[in-house]
Amino acid sequence: MKRAVVTGSASGIGAATVAALRAGGFTVFGIDRASADCNVDLGTEAGRSEAIAAATAFAEGELHALVPCAGLSGLPDRPGSVLASVNYFGTIALVEGLRPVLAAAEESSVVLISSNSTMIQPKVPMDVVEACLAGDEEGARAAADAATSMASYPATKVALAWWAREHAVTEEWIGAGIRVNAIAPGMIETALVAEGRSDATIAPLLDLLPIPRGRSGEPDDIALFVAFLCGPGGRNFVGSFVTIDGGTEALLRARDWPKPW
Ligand code: NAD
Repeated sequence: MKRAVVTGSASGIGAATVAALRAGGFTVFGIDRASADCNVDLGTEAGRSEAIAAATAFAEGELHALVPCAGLSGLPDRPGSVLASVNYFGTIALVEGLRPVLAAAEESSVVLISSNSTMIQPKVPMDVVEACLAGDEEGARAAADAATSMASYPATKVALAWWAREHAVTEEWIGAGIRVNAIAPGMIETALVAEGRSDATIAPLLDLLPIPRGRSGEPDDIALFVAFLCGPGGRNFVGSFVTIDGGTEALLRARDWPKPW
């Protein structure tokens, strides 16, 4: 039996990923604040520990896929520290905490949910990125509060992408048969975007986003690719960072990468 764990499973991309993995033959365990198999706050150490224990028990020794989708966007009245703790530390704690059961499976896959904001939003506060990657949660929370959650959102997602690329290629991860990759969705119609649309500051910015495809994405536009990455088609993806955004990033950054060496 193939087993998968998905966080943020109750809504949006996470819920669609649960469905896509089930359709691909996985038995899936969901983690979220509510309406999941394990209901916890991943912004807290207690919630992370409870989630790791419950997911480890579910795995019964071997976990084949982990897709940590739980995340929050930046909003004017939301502190940046919450994003640092949920988007970055809540994700990496689960990935590291479940490494033993991922390594026990012959092959396994971890897909981190980054964002195209990492490449198209200006003035990313790099002190937030650096504190995240240094594992300094208190430092990251302080820097993110100072920067605001709207500026810190892409910082948490840059940190996830770089964590994925740096760790994916090591003995601890691919050496143990665990394929780590990150994806960068563009605007996807979920509760997270609806929250932004109902905010007077964020709504006009969302309308300015150029999308060559002519429309924002649906959760399945991401989930079906995540399920592909977790299946046999994803076997040679290691440390990849894949943009799935209807063309926004290519429109704005066409010649920035590939970056010749
Ligand atoms: P969503 O709001 O529909 O789903 C996010 C889920 O995360 C919710 O079910 C929520 O309850 C859960 N969550 C939030 N905080 C939590 C916490 N402290 N503990 C446990 N669970 C928590 O949003 P979505 O758009 O599906 O977002 C999924 C992921 O995709 C997020 O990481 C988001 O940053 C990322 N993303 C979304 C978009 C987009 O446009 N929707 C674009 C790029 C990246």
